[in-house]
Amino acid sequence: MTKSFFKAVAIIIAIASHQSFAAVPTLALTFDTNIATYNMTSSQEAKIQKAEYKIKKVIASDAFRTRVLNFTFNGAKKFNNNNGLTNAQIYQKILDGAENFKTAKNNAMDLNIKVYYENTSTVGYTTPASSYINMNTKFFNTYTSTQVTRNMMHEWLHKIGFDHATFYSVSRDSSVPYAIGKIMEELAANY
Ligand SMILES: [Zn+2]
Repeated sequence: MTKSFFKAVAIIIAIASHQSFAAVPTLALTFDTNIATYNMTSSQEAKIQKAEYKIKKVIASDAFRTRVLNFTFNGAKKFNNNNGLTNAQIYQKILDGAENFKTAKNNAMDLNIKVYYENTSTVGYTTPASSYINMNTKFFNTYTSTQVTRNMMHEWLHKIGFDHATFYSVSRDSSVPYAIGKIMEELAANY
């Protein structure tokens, strides 16, 4: 075998390994979570921390990127209530992590989470400009950390500017918060 043969093999390996990583952008791998919690018990905090771990794993995965980029609504590759953005632009907006209340792109999910108890069917709520999301312990306490990832992702997508219809319809499931919240939970189950 000649030196140039090995050189050729080395180059092919380099190209192949580069391609296998090229699918997920660096910002997906470095995506972080900065979550502050208020009035939580230690077991509630532990659930949030587990959810944070899963969210980071999912965002870093090629499966998440693929699901977001290939999402379809009404037969086209797009989300409902997409603010005029393509799937690729929505994916980039997630990686940028610029919340309405902060605006700077810091490649992270920044959230403050408060818990409260109310005997209603409301899982949680937030207001657009607030850095807080409020979670009803009636539901939160029965949720697994995987289910909590969906809730956190949904509310956080509101924080980076996405909205949906107030009342249920089939098309609401294709809005960015509902659709990507669901994708998050499905993929979080792998971790
Ligand atoms: Zn919502």
